[in-house]
Amino acid sequence: MNQQKNTNPKKTNNLCLRCGTCCLKGGPALHQADYILIKNAQIKRSHLFSILKGELAYMPNLESDSSSNSLLCLTEQELIKIKPNPQKTLQYPWACMFLTQEKQSKTTGCKLHPNHPEECKLLFCQNTKQILKAYQINRLTRAELSTPDEQALQAAHSSGTNWTQLGTELATYFINQQNNFIEINKLPKKMVKELEESANFDNAFRSIVVERKVLKQDELDFHFGRNITSILKQFGIYL
Ligand code: SF4
Ligand code: SF4
Repeated sequence: MNQQKNTNPKKTNNLCLRCGTCCLKGGPALHQADYILIKNAQIKRSHLFSILKGELAYMPNLESDSSSNSLLCLTEQELIKIKPNPQKTLQYPWACMFLTQEKQSKTTGCKLHPNHPEECKLLFCQNTKQILKAYQINRLTRAELSTPDEQALQAAHSSGTNWTQLGTELATYFINQQNNFIEINKLPKKMVKELEESANFDNAFRSIVVERKVLKQDELDFHFGRNITSILKQFGIYL
C-alpha cells in the first residue's frame, strides 16, 4: 500500500486511496532492503512463512501492466512472505496480518507504517511499473535470516522428504487440470505413498524440534515452509 495521505480520494486517481485492496490480496515477499526491519525486530520470523522453490504462488504477471493480473505459478526461487491474518475470511484468505481497518473512517492502515516492506512502498495499483521491475530481484532467503544450526535443521528437514520433486509434480498436475481439486485415486499409488511418507516426516520433524525447544512453534513455517499436510488439503488431497 502506498501510504500517501489522500485528502480527496474520490477526485484523483494519482494517489493511493488507502483502500487496502492490495493488502487484502496478500502480504509482500521480502527483499534485501527489508533486512533492516528484521534486524530491528519490526518484523519477526514468527511473522513470516516461506514458499519453497517449486511450490505454487501467485506472482504478478510481468507481461501485464495491471496489478490485478496475477498468475498462479511454480516458484523458481524461495520466497519469504508476511503471513496472512490468522482470522482468515473466505473472501480474502491471504489478507496481510499487518493490515488494519478503521471502521469509522473506512480507511485502512498498516501496523508497520512507515517501516513497511519495499514491495509495499513500490506497489501502486494505478502504475505497477516499479513493483514489476523489482519483484524478482534481490530477494531475502532463509539462509540470510538463520543461524548455521538453523540452516542445518532446514537442510535436514528438506533431505528427509521428497517434497521438492513431489510438490512440483503435484503443482504442475494441478495447473494442467485448470486448478481443479486433485482426485487422489487418479494419482499413481507410488506417488500417494511418497506423499504420505513426506507429510508424516514433516509433521514428526516439526513436533520434535518444538518438543525439544530447538525452534519455536510460530517460526516453523519460516524455517520449513508451509506444512505439507495443509498444502495437500489446498489441492483437495486428504491423506
Ligand atoms: S495501491 Fe491501490 S489497491 Fe493498494 S491501497 Fe492504494 S489504491 Fe488501494
Ligand atoms: S505490510 Fe502493510 S502495506 Fe504491506 S501488505 Fe501488509 S498491511 Fe499492506
